[in-house]
Amino acid sequence: MMQYSLLSVAFRQYRLLVRHHAQFIKRCYSSDIRNIGILAHIDAGKTTTTERMLFYAGKTRSLGEVHRGNTVTDYLTQERERGITICSSAVTFGWNGKRINLLDTPGHIDFTMEVEQSLYAVDGVIIVLDGTAGVEAQTVTVWTQADKHNLPRLVFVNKMDRPDANFDKCVDDLKAKLDAKPICMQIPAKNIDGQLGIYDVITMELLTWQQKDLGRTYNKLKLEASDELRQLQDKRNELIDELSGIDDELAEVVISTESFDNISSELIVRALRRATCSQKVVPVLLGSAYKNIGIQCLMDAVNAYLPTPAERNQIYDCFGNDLAGKVFKIVHDKQRGPLTLVRLIRGELKRGMRVLCSRGQAEVISKIYEPLADEYREVNSIQAGDVAICSGLKSTVTGDLLTTSHTSLKNAQKRFLQSQDSTAPQKDVDNDDGDDELDVSHGLFSFEPKIPDAVYFCSIEPPSISSQTAMEQALKQLQREDPSLRVSYDSVTGQTVLGGMGELHMDIVKSRLLTEYKIDVDLGPLQIAYKETIEAPAITTLSVEKEIAGIKQNVNITLQVVNNQTELFSLDKSPENLPNLNALRPRLLQVVRKGATAALERGPRVGGEVVDTQIRLHNITVGRGTADSFVMAAAAQCVQKLLTTSGTRLLEPIMSIQIVAPNERISGIIADLSRRRAIIKDVAPKGERNKLIFVNAPLAELFGYSSALRTISSGTASMTMQPCGFSEMNPLDESIAVRRAQGLE
Ligand code: GDP
Repeated sequence: MMQYSLLSVAFRQYRLLVRHHAQFIKRCYSSDIRNIGILAHIDAGKTTTTERMLFYAGKTRSLGEVHRGNTVTDYLTQERERGITICSSAVTFGWNGKRINLLDTPGHIDFTMEVEQSLYAVDGVIIVLDGTAGVEAQTVTVWTQADKHNLPRLVFVNKMDRPDANFDKCVDDLKAKLDAKPICMQIPAKNIDGQLGIYDVITMELLTWQQKDLGRTYNKLKLEASDELRQLQDKRNELIDELSGIDDELAEVVISTESFDNISSELIVRALRRATCSQKVVPVLLGSAYKNIGIQCLMDAVNAYLPTPAERNQIYDCFGNDLAGKVFKIVHDKQRGPLTLVRLIRGELKRGMRVLCSRGQAEVISKIYEPLADEYREVNSIQAGDVAICSGLKSTVTGDLLTTSHTSLKNAQKRFLQSQDSTAPQKDVDNDDGDDELDVSHGLFSFEPKIPDAVYFCSIEPPSISSQTAMEQALKQLQREDPSLRVSYDSVTGQTVLGGMGELHMDIVKSRLLTEYKIDVDLGPLQIAYKETIEAPAITTLSVEKEIAGIKQNVNITLQVVNNQTELFSLDKSPENLPNLNALRPRLLQVVRKGATAALERGPRVGGEVVDTQIRLHNITVGRGTADSFVMAAAAQCVQKLLTTSGTRLLEPIMSIQIVAPNERISGIIADLSRRRAIIKDVAPKGERNKLIFVNAPLAELFGYSSALRTISSGTASMTMQPCGFSEMNPLDESIAVRRAQGLE
């Protein structure tokens, strides 16, 4: 009985806590919000750190562990089984009066597009380092991505509980490998039993964590006069010295004061915030997520040093109070269907609101939720600066910009252009009639997100003909969630073809089709997605004539193919063609364009997409009563004829690889790379013992490369790899590739 009443009291308290938390989240203003990402090399402890943050913020009742497969952010079954993070899920929690929206990001290179998209939605990032490994290859990649998005960042040196962890090496790595200016806010303090504590350099306290309550509470101890205190004082003075070289306000105080001891912690915190937000320095913290040490300080640092939404995204000021939201992810929820994750940059998003995506479709938002991985709480509206999960949007895709109307979008663009050219007279744009076209040349207003080219493809077969339609529907859904997945139909083999970023990418599609859609598909062997380009310009005329259902169809068309990287289709307006071309109906022109460009989807060599090629229409005559489909087919046939006569060359996918390895292993690694047709771009020293190799190599030569590298370097090297375009091949390699693609080798 006693036990029962204790339980019910505990349960009531928990419910009160949850309700209090929900009310707090609702009350938050934009300045109280932090939208952050968390990035790391695989296994550095990103997922464990996230779990701990949720636990201490009161969002979860128990600690999830990666090896037990029960973490909140790795919520897809495949992620749980594999112990890696694939989808960036969004989680909201309150911490010391601020609302933190944390977007977890995938760590595998097959999912770089997801990382890119979620970085549009955040205002700052935490970079987690493995304290035993320092800056690893993938850390370099994510750091570069954060640079690209101008994101202020904090570094959390994790795994400091391990005896082989080395904090100083990690800080040196940040300087040497990433050219960063680290500011150590903390230094490790190990007691005689090897237990980890933390010295706070700013407040000069020793922090120690209680393990009996899973690290919920920690003690702060002011140090007495001792060697320890003197060392810490030196560290604090170093920190002030470094910061005052960057921050004018602090510099003024430093000049006018007699001793650094008179400089208050508040002053240092304010200076460090300014320097972090302007990306001049990177505060470094440490701890052990697994042993529950240092996480609360990390969350305090997010509140204190990372920017508020209002401090970022000034480029969107042109929207005023109008709605501007960036779609950064689409996930499929079993009960709620497709859910669209939107980072709201300006304006307010309300339930039942009509929105327009940048590609022109208007849709209605049926419900809005606040995020906690796969558990969502319904809300009525979301304000600028926050993250919303919306249901009801059917055609919106990842990367879209949401606004209220076409006029609002155009007005924003006009204000944007006016702000760029401040000498231009300010025009009252609110009464605009809305007829002019939108210029999409600026990235802010462009329709399509940048989708990486597929480097692999494979055929995909449904278990039976009757499940073909269900499979196509499911693939359409998956493609909206992940535009880097390509789905096409090969009319020659009659198969559906998947294009993607790698083996894991395709495997995930296969297992999601099975678990979420109950379709057990077969994948064909993984093949390299070659592209083709024309060997030389060519011109030809095609005449086709046929009788269909008693009506005579006839087309005479002259087309040319030329090398051109910017425009797909053009008109050859030489004087002899001009009268004919001017007389063409726009609709017919559209039909010709559609047929001709469709023929570029499959080149004659290995069926690869034909790129860097332009089709020029010289002349066309179409007989009366000829169907559009006949004109389209004639245009396509004419292009196919041109491609076969001009001949095409293969372009193969190239990967950019960065390898970090000890000096004595470099020659072995380079010798192996040169057997793989690699081009070594640079070999730079990394610290005293390591070198960093930058190399470009054809994907075709990289099957099983990560395990080969492990063997050559006896496990001492680490590497990161990402696609970096397509390149021509020499004739010998090309003929081998063609034979392989045709299944002859
Ligand atoms: P992620 O790939 O970056 O998300 O890393 P995980 O959070 O999945 O962690 C990778 C492995 O490191 C798991 O086995 C964790 O239990 C372990 N790990 C994470 N943090 C720590 C830590 O602070 N100390 C120790 N010793 N192990 C940790």
